[in-house]
Amino acid sequence: MDLDKVAGEITKILVTEEQINAKIKELAAEVDARYAGKDLLLVGVLKGAVMFMADLSREMQMHAQMDWMAVSSYGSGTQSSGVVRILKDLDADVLGRHVLIVEDIIDSGLTLSWLISNLKARGAASVEIVAFLRKPDAAKVQVDVAMVGFDIPNEFVVGYGLDYAEKYRTLKGVAVLSPSVYS
Ligand code: IMP
Ligand code: MG
Repeated sequence: MDLDKVAGEITKILVTEEQINAKIKELAAEVDARYAGKDLLLVGVLKGAVMFMADLSREMQMHAQMDWMAVSSYGSGTQSSGVVRILKDLDADVLGRHVLIVEDIIDSGLTLSWLISNLKARGAASVEIVAFLRKPDAAKVQVDVAMVGFDIPNEFVVGYGLDYAEKYRTLKGVAVLSPSVYS
């Protein structure tokens, strides 16, 4: 869906479709270079990373397998506890393989740091992250992010996979959601 269709529900466009396309090409070239000659498994985190994974993988010029995980943070309210429950596990065995986690956004980073330890414990040869977006709080935790698309301010954003109450995922760009939508 085009961003102009939700003009009344957003306050600011942060990333346009054109900016996304250009950035995806850059990131794909970087993945190609980093993993040249290696057996690469892309692990997308559902559901937010679907658009990013689809576009990134198609711009890559090397073979890679795709797999998916769905996780949910335990904890009450809005505070992520860092304890994660697997809702859908990988189909693939990661033992000895190079894993690249494909994530929509890193906020607190708690979910990702858990995911990295979990995949390393299964014997992956390497586990790295490519994140489409990163918020400032991500700097507070020890999550080593190999590649990032865009650093954005600490605001609630939607689009290109990111949702508010399962809405706005299909927007072609990323925008700040108007507070009037959730109040
Ligand atoms: P954290 O890094 O463990 O705090 O969790 C990040 C997850 O929270 C992401 O994968 C998103 O699903 C969600 N999230 C964080 N910030 C936003 C936002 O601005 N819009 C939509 N979802 C968000
Ligand atoms: Mg997510």
